[in-house]
Amino acid sequence: MKIELAKSYGFCYGVKRAINIAEKHPNSVTFGPLIHNKDEIERLEKKHQVGLVETLEEAKKYDTVIIRTHGITKERLKRLKSEGKKIINATCPYVTTPQQIVEKMSKEGYTIVIFGDKQHPEIQGVASYSVLPEKTFTILSEDEIIGLPLGPKVALVAQTTRKPEAYQRIAAKLVARVQELRVFNTICNATFENQAATEELARKSDIMIIVGGKNSSNTKQLFYICQNYLDSCYHIENSNEIKAAWFDGKERCGVTAGASTPDWIIEDVIAKIKELTKES
Ligand code: SF4
Repeated sequence: MKIELAKSYGFCYGVKRAINIAEKHPNSVTFGPLIHNKDEIERLEKKHQVGLVETLEEAKKYDTVIIRTHGITKERLKRLKSEGKKIINATCPYVTTPQQIVEKMSKEGYTIVIFGDKQHPEIQGVASYSVLPEKTFTILSEDEIIGLPLGPKVALVAQTTRKPEAYQRIAAKLVARVQELRVFNTICNATFENQAATEELARKSDIMIIVGGKNSSNTKQLFYICQNYLDSCYHIENSNEIKAAWFDGKERCGVTAGASTPDWIIEDVIAKIKELTKES
């Protein structure tokens, strides 16, 4: 079995930065998971005494609160500050940018359209910065634009993990409906790099292992890309999920990982594939 790693994979700049910040603040808690990887979160807790809280109520018990990579809502940040917590902001700068754009453009009276997943904490955070909540819409496809009560001026931002092609389609549809459209490229390059490298590897592999949290949207995107090229694609969180039968009759195994996946998990996955396929 030939095992090959994607040319670009795993931790991005924002996640590396957030983990560095957390490691420097022992005896603190993160508000929401710092990154979408529960194994790494456990490591931070065991090795660096950085815990995890999910609610403002739980956060009350701690003095130092680290804001996760994908950010939190403006209201929650305000509440934490008003309670006198020491706030360490580990929000990725690429996520802070759309927050600032939404705040500024909504103050200027623009209707805000956000291309992203309403349920994702990053998008809930970004949307919360709008001063015009009744004129702020989050959509997942260009079809959802039909029927939106848009004003004459629209500002468009995207979730950092979205595909540029889909973003362009949304921009094209919007521009036909409004007098003025401001389009901000808030898609993150780290995501592109991992996606392009995954695509290149999937083309020449006959099985792809995609490593990352099950709720990590950028890992899911990598999985969908692989599905365009081959049937044998597996999205796993760690080496325990790997089955020997997946490799029957396969010769070239590609491995890639989402932006929240630490190297030690990837190394473990490769070691397990080698063990199961007797690769030395
Ligand atoms: S994928 Fe991009 S936006 Fe998300 S944390 Fe990493 S660097 Fe930041």
